[in-house]
Amino acid sequence: MLHGIPASPGIVIGKAYVVAKQAPRVEEKAIAETEVPQELKRLQHAVDRSERELQKILQLTEQKVGSQKAKIFEAQIMILADTFLFDSIRKRITKDLRSAEYVVHREISKYQQVMMNSSDEYMRERAHDVEDVKNRIIRNIQQDKLISRFDASSIVVSEILTPADTILFSRNEVLAYATDMGGITSHAALLSRSLNIPSVVGLKEITKHVQSGNIIIVDGYTGSVIIHPTEETITRCNERKAEHLQFDTRLKEIRELTAQTMDGKIVQLCCNIEFSEEALNVHAQGSNGIGLYRTEGLFMRTENYPSEEEQFIEYKTVVEKARPHKVVMRTLDIGGDKVVSNASSEENPFLGWRGIRVSLDMPEVFQSQLRAMLRASAFGEVWIMLPMISGIKEIRKAKECLEHAKNSLRNEGIVFDENIRIGAMIEVPSAAVIAGEIAEETDFLSIGTNDLIQYLLAVDRGNENVSSLYQEFHPAVIKTIRSIIIEAHRVGKTVSMCGEMAGDPIALLLLLGLGLDEFSMTPYILPEIKKIIRSISYHEAEEIANRILEMKTEDDIKDFLRVNLHTMVPELLLE
Ligand code: PEP
Ligand code: MG
Repeated sequence: MLHGIPASPGIVIGKAYVVAKQAPRVEEKAIAETEVPQELKRLQHAVDRSERELQKILQLTEQKVGSQKAKIFEAQIMILADTFLFDSIRKRITKDLRSAEYVVHREISKYQQVMMNSSDEYMRERAHDVEDVKNRIIRNIQQDKLISRFDASSIVVSEILTPADTILFSRNEVLAYATDMGGITSHAALLSRSLNIPSVVGLKEITKHVQSGNIIIVDGYTGSVIIHPTEETITRCNERKAEHLQFDTRLKEIRELTAQTMDGKIVQLCCNIEFSEEALNVHAQGSNGIGLYRTEGLFMRTENYPSEEEQFIEYKTVVEKARPHKVVMRTLDIGGDKVVSNASSEENPFLGWRGIRVSLDMPEVFQSQLRAMLRASAFGEVWIMLPMISGIKEIRKAKECLEHAKNSLRNEGIVFDENIRIGAMIEVPSAAVIAGEIAEETDFLSIGTNDLIQYLLAVDRGNENVSSLYQEFHPAVIKTIRSIIIEAHRVGKTVSMCGEMAGDPIALLLLLGLGLDEFSMTPYILPEIKKIIRSISYHEAEEIANRILEMKTEDDIKDFLRVNLHTMVPELLLE
């Protein structure tokens, strides 16, 4: 049994499909002389990145299986340090005017061929290392993705999944995901939750223990993976699966009811979605609408940016499916770990060109999105939400862009909701500090805890090495959430939360007690959250929140919340 991080719930027994890293395809591509500096830069980035990856694998291998086995990675790192080889690659890019990946492919293949032809077996073995390094560099140049073809009805086992891979695989009836890397709020994990695909991430070395065709059990509730389970284990897992199903059936009974506490406090429960197909969950799960529609799904599926018309069709579909409820559409939030095909690589993507920064720098892309959203607002209730806001200036600029889009539509006689609401996500610490001022400039706020926690605590949300430091219940996180709510309420604005914390049953008493108005979450958990709200009292939640504000550590806070929740709602299946 291997232990990882439970990223999407559900228990699945099935055949593994291990995603081997395929050799990347390389075509001969001529470049202009003016493109040479850019190609050399791409090469350098890819080499640096490959080295960082290999150092990490080396360290992990040393820790887990000892330094003898880790030597293979040392050898690969040494290849990257071969100045003779890389000088000649740089020279060939400059002189032959060919793309970096092509020259890397050609030059390293030559080197590899010499080794393959050697009579020395050791040399021939090393040729495989050279091949690995070559593919790694090329993949990093191309920012290539893992392959997307596999046998239907399998459990995908891989080192890592990018959000794009998660989407691609999901088209092939994937049963579950189990990956070496990744954290609970990595976008691939979020996607698997939206797609209702059980998954466990951060297993560190599952790809080493499992081979394609092996029977494995992925338990997305507890974060464990069992390889070659016995009959007895399979029976036990099936029993647990049935228990969960039973509980889910009971939840369906409260679908049509309001999310109201026993003492009368009503809150809004909304769904987070990424694809138009998911919009039907709004009714199926008994929600008050869509609190976060991540529009980048559409951008990640297409090679280039989708046209205004393509976006309009998609947004209108969502609005019509959610009607009569609202849809909070978030403007494009690419960057970070959500890379679209034509984005360039950055050293610190999470601190780089992301979210609103991209939109404001690309006015045409932004205009087409705003116009598409405005046009969709003629078909139902649409709110617009801005991601990655770090200060007032970005909001003012974005509002100017919105005005511009409105004017262009008015000139063309196209109808839209003249009173469309615009809000800001609070997910950057600077925005949290000035939440009151931001609330004054907007119609609503929505707390994005996935990013807020990573930026506040300086913990990469997708890095399994530091996942234990990624703490929802860190007192600084709680105090920040409290202050955002107080500040927004002071100027009469509502506050939603659309980060994963909003759907965490353990966090519910606290968030309710702090006065949060709306909770937007992955649809599958919504009925359970409603059940809890209907079983507790707001007054008690307030008292609990006040007690928590006095507590000093995440462990104390979590234990306190867990015990209280258990006492109030004993039938919950808390894993
Ligand atoms: C968040 O950061 O909490 C959020 C909801 O946005 P995303 O997860 O898409 O970055
Ligand atoms: Mg975010």
